[in-house]
Amino acid sequence: MSKKETKIYKNVWKPGTEDAAKKFGFIRPEDIIRKNVQKKPTSKIDQILTGWGNYVKSHFVELSPELKAESQKRLEICDPCNMRDRGTCSTGRQGAHVVTGKLMKGCGCRLAAKALSPGSVCPLGKW
Ligand code: SF4
Repeated sequence: MSKKETKIYKNVWKPGTEDAAKKFGFIRPEDIIRKNVQKKPTSKIDQILTGWGNYVKSHFVELSPELKAESQKRLEICDPCNMRDRGTCSTGRQGAHVVTGKLMKGCGCRLAAKALSPGSVCPLGKW
């Protein structure tokens, strides 16, 4: 790729412009694969902010039906759980992980927000 082509390639390939870039031949298949693989697992703070962000959004805008359904499913699992204490996954309680059997403490998260964070997991492996 020439210097001029590289410059055009960089200017054209911005989020949402992949189709245009592909049309002019500035995206190579290996770049698309690399871009998709580079997604990192989300950090704890990212999970918390995503959950609370979606919780706030759920009161003002319409969330995707898939996210709502997933959240509802999670909350139905949390409801009868011994670790739940007034809407929070209690850090003062312990339970056995459903896969490893290891004793785990609750995460301390507010369940209504945690359930809306797709990257979050139950400390007992229930979801
Ligand atoms: S997140 Fe898991 S451990 Fe916590 S209350 Fe829900 S089901 Fe129980």
